[in-house]
Amino acid sequence: EIKEIVEKVEEAIVDAPPNNLRDGGIFKDGYSTELDELRLISKSGRKFIKELEARERKRTGITKLRISFNRVFGYFIEVTRAHSENVPEDYIRKQTLVNTERFFTPELKEFEEKVLGAQEKINELENILFIKLREELISRINLIQEVSTFVSEIDAIQSLAFVARSNNYIKPKVTDDSEIFIKDGRHPVVELQPLGEPFIPNDCRLNSEEQILIITGPNMAGKSTYLRQVALIVLMAQVGSFIPASEAEIGIVDRIFTRIGAADNIVMGQSTFMVEMTETANILNNASDKSLVILDEIGRGTSTFDGLSIAWALVEYIHNHPGIKAKTLFATHYHELTELELTLDRVKNYNILVKEWNDKIRFLRKVVPGNADKSYGIQVAKLAGIPEEVILRAKEVLQNLEEENFDINGNPVLARSKDSKKKELQLSLFSGHFSDPVRKKIKSLDLDNLTPIQALDLLNELKGKIENGE
Ligand code: ADP
Repeated sequence: EIKEIVEKVEEAIVDAPPNNLRDGGIFKDGYSTELDELRLISKSGRKFIKELEARERKRTGITKLRISFNRVFGYFIEVTRAHSENVPEDYIRKQTLVNTERFFTPELKEFEEKVLGAQEKINELENILFIKLREELISRINLIQEVSTFVSEIDAIQSLAFVARSNNYIKPKVTDDSEIFIKDGRHPVVELQPLGEPFIPNDCRLNSEEQILIITGPNMAGKSTYLRQVALIVLMAQVGSFIPASEAEIGIVDRIFTRIGAADNIVMGQSTFMVEMTETANILNNASDKSLVILDEIGRGTSTFDGLSIAWALVEYIHNHPGIKAKTLFATHYHELTELELTLDRVKNYNILVKEWNDKIRFLRKVVPGNADKSYGIQVAKLAGIPEEVILRAKEVLQNLEEENFDINGNPVLARSKDSKKKELQLSLFSGHFSDPVRKKIKSLDLDNLTPIQALDLLNELKGKIENGE
């Protein structure tokens, strides 16, 4: 208990003190007699002005006569110029404006000195009193800090208890092994959205067989929500809180790494992409097999090819590097990444179900095994009101791009590495195929409109491409 300190503060300081010391009005009435007296003078000033104004109006017959105050000129009697001739002899001119004249009288001057002096003294006195009170309290600083820490701990713990009870949380089993299993997990904040659709719970399992989950689904499907909910539940379990799920077994996690959002750091001289890559580098350099890594869209800040390539290499690294092997959730709208499951043992594809009919989509919010067969970006664009003409053309372009997805042997083009490329080159030579750019070039030729010289140039170009291994 710090009753004595509390009492002291309660006795001295007003209930809603100003933010700024200079504004005054910190201390309660009755705390200091000197302060009370000064305040009385300052307050009685207003009454005095009202009385004086009424008196002068009566004496001069000028009904619109006013007594005002400003910082530069202090107190003055203001009379419009139309009434100038009614101004009495004893008024002393202070300032002449376009439409009005300002005066003072010895009585007003004397009053001004008293009131302004009082206000200044009040400020000075409050400042002195404040410093004195602070000095008295500082001797008890250790006790105050100890009590504050204690209260903040109780506050945190009781808050967790409160949300656990109000939102039907359960007690997770925290284990020594490295599996994470969550049944019917919910996002503790999104599930409370008052106006939204009912929240759809989802499971999550991460272990030595399912180390990296690639989660695909269109924009707005719920990927970010799912990732964050898993990370939050794991964190809550680690700190000893109940969690929003129906059942859970959660192993000890040494750190949770996140790469989420596109928080720009332009002020610090870093572009969005640079921030993204710095955070990713930090993950790769520090994650362990006990870490949980949440990657929400990698490579968005650069070109699709760049982004996709980095994302691809990253998953391979987290999977293969003996020092990392961190449990990872990777949300992406690059559905090409789901091909990683074909080449890496512990990568599993999940996707968030959407229902498609008549070229429209409905979000079902359910995370299920398997990959999204496409990105649905164009449908989402349509949903958002992009003109039909743009949508149709985008579909055409998409088709062009997708034709290039697999190589002539039906393997994902992206999975190629130096070794597989050599094999493929031999194979393609034997089977009489040329590489893609060459084929594409030949396919696009309009022979009827080619002059002999152009044909020769072209032949030269194609030969160059083949020699370069393209
Ligand atoms: P994505 O990352 O796939 O673009 P978000 O995670 O941002 O999608 O989700 C979009 C919106 O969908 C969220 O703001 C939320 O209101 C809603 N949502 C997401 N997951 C669920 C869920 N499981 N149940 C209900 N609504 C959800």
